[in-house]
Amino acid sequence: MHIDKFEEAIMNCRFCFMCRHLSAIGNVRFTEVDTPRIRAAMLYGLRTGTNSFDDEDFVDALYRQDLSACCVHHCVNHYDENGLALAARADVVEAGKAPEAVKKLAAKFVKSVGWKAEGAGDVAWFLDETTAADKAVVTATKKLFAAAKISPKIITGGSIGKALKVLGFLPEAKAAAEQFAAFLRAEGVKTLFVSNPAAVNALKQDYPEFGVKLPCDVKCTAALVVQCKIKFAKAAGEVYPLADDFKKNYENCGCMEKALAALKATCKPFGTNDEETYCCGEGAVVLDKLHPELVKALAEYVAARADDPKKDKIVVASAYTKRVLVKYGKLNVVTLEELAASCL
Ligand code: SF4
Repeated sequence: MHIDKFEEAIMNCRFCFMCRHLSAIGNVRFTEVDTPRIRAAMLYGLRTGTNSFDDEDFVDALYRQDLSACCVHHCVNHYDENGLALAARADVVEAGKAPEAVKKLAAKFVKSVGWKAEGAGDVAWFLDETTAADKAVVTATKKLFAAAKISPKIITGGSIGKALKVLGFLPEAKAAAEQFAAFLRAEGVKTLFVSNPAAVNALKQDYPEFGVKLPCDVKCTAALVVQCKIKFAKAAGEVYPLADDFKKNYENCGCMEKALAALKATCKPFGTNDEETYCCGEGAVVLDKLHPELVKALAEYVAARADDPKKDKIVVASAYTKRVLVKYGKLNVVTLEELAASCL
């Protein structure tokens, strides 16, 4: 089984409650089942035969996880309870026990695989569906490209495999990854800018795991701010940055911090600590489609921690987090691209 690769997490997390306060879903449902300890205990039970994927409550708990990976990031031993959860989902799917809603969602992503490119040259920008839906972010990013004197080929389209991997459909995710890599190769892409941190993570971590080679360098749009010699006329002023699930907990790349420094932002600490996620299920990629009520609760939890919810300028890395924090939390949120464009 896929979970067998996460022996350390199963054997240690089942007795440990140290990171329970970082379980975003546990914090809004007030339930122990939504903590790494209980999930690991249930998966240990699966191996000893006292638990089974026939138990719908067990499977539902696995698909409720926010997958922020902040427990792994802050665990003193970095036991990969997040990887364990993803592996468990793959085992659920292989056992034919995925919930109907999950199967339907996965089928939609399989159908959406396919892309088109507009423009010329070997520098491209992958404008995923989530980011494309936010016109302000698209406009801001185009301004940054113009300021950097880059005219990218714009690639739009459907799934590149991330959502399928997160849902546990590994062969389908790998097939999407192979097709996207072949598409980029056929388009002659040598440098690919990517807006969505989930897509960046797919390309940088999932694709190598699948053994899929890309023909290009992958850069997130923070690289436009940090690496492309744009002259910013104004300082960004006072902002409340929210650490991104992928950039901080999955990759620990530091690009948000570097970009905010380049914009001369005065960064204020948000909330009560800098360990828990405030990204409302970004790491779970499709949590808003499976459990919108939980995403609403997560956004309200974040909103309750703002100093001045109407005035504080919150900066995030993903259009997903912006959308749900604005929709459910009524907060004043911009993405890094919007903040950077406002400094031109
Ligand atoms: S990830 Fe680390 S802190 Fe969290 S339950 Fe496992 S062992 Fe404990």
